[in-house]
Amino acid sequence: MSAVLEKTQILEDYLVMTGEEIAERIEFARAELGPRVVILGHHYQRNDVIRHADLTGDSYQLSVMASQTEAEYIVFCGVHFMAESADILGKPSQRVILPDLGAGCSMADMATIEQVEDAWEQLRDIGVLDSRVAPITYMNSSAQIKAFCGRERGVVCTSSNAVPLFDHYLKGFDKMFFFPDQHLGRNTGAKFGIPLDKMALWNPHEELGGNTEEQLRDAKLILWRGHCSVHGRFKDWHVDKIRERVPGITVLVHPECTREVVEKSDLNGSTSFIIKTVENAPPGTKWAIGTEVNLVNRLRDRFPDKEIHLLAPDLCMCATMYRIAPQNLAWAMENLLTDNVMNEIVVDEETKYFANIALERMINLTENK
Ligand code: SF4
Repeated sequence: MSAVLEKTQILEDYLVMTGEEIAERIEFARAELGPRVVILGHHYQRNDVIRHADLTGDSYQLSVMASQTEAEYIVFCGVHFMAESADILGKPSQRVILPDLGAGCSMADMATIEQVEDAWEQLRDIGVLDSRVAPITYMNSSAQIKAFCGRERGVVCTSSNAVPLFDHYLKGFDKMFFFPDQHLGRNTGAKFGIPLDKMALWNPHEELGGNTEEQLRDAKLILWRGHCSVHGRFKDWHVDKIRERVPGITVLVHPECTREVVEKSDLNGSTSFIIKTVENAPPGTKWAIGTEVNLVNRLRDRFPDKEIHLLAPDLCMCATMYRIAPQNLAWAMENLLTDNVMNEIVVDEETKYFANIALERMINLTENK
């Protein structure tokens, strides 16, 4: 391995290197930087990237864990909203790097702050905001939408804590407006017995989201019309097929899957819930898992004594997360050797302030629940 680099590294140079050379360069840079850097790997990240991660987990967990380190640089192998969350929750001295700026989240991109503010104003114009309406956003949303929820008495939720937060807000408010994942919102609302005709779907491309004033007044839950392109690929017939093919199988899915899939499954829950459930299952048990393929493959490798299938036979991979290739990681890391911070993600102070309010509400309302 070469001595410490002296100039800015060019990404194109890495694209022609072999996988082994790239891996060596990442490890060399990591050893040189020592505790100054922490590499975060989201559960859905590909294996050739996750092998270099210091910490693995879901987006919120990773941001919290990174903020508890003394690392100066947080290299987030995930997608854009995750790196924003790491910047919001990190220490002021920590700088966050997303190795490929093209790694967005198609779900988070389905709700822009302009669309959300416009929807809110439309609700105000027709008097819906005269009742108590709480905006709730899934962690998988932009920092600006988190800040909007902070300003408007709302909160951020994760797929692990959506249930206690719905419980709190359903008791204290007349209505909730949930962004951007309609499926997590619908599946969680259904757990509280909210009928589907009390859940309005807001299409940001139509006046009043495609609803009548009466529907919006009558709704208990307004769901933003967003979805995850990965979890949306699982269909209810996949559940029927795998049950036919593998008798005795337990179907375990993420609540970003559609209502039909969740209704047909045996169990549903967050990524952490899925991992824990499989970890604690007895040997010989059979599982069909409806979540991102890299995570399912790693569970299969970790637990050869259990029979683990991906719920859908076709590839269910997060294509945007896949953009973080080892080449991008090597490039970002080697630039840090000369203190070149590439692809830094910075959330402005005002957005950070209000987003933190929504996140702190989440923490206060879910602690010990
Ligand atoms: S899996 Fe879905 S929600 Fe998660 S980052 Fe990819 S597109 Fe976004």
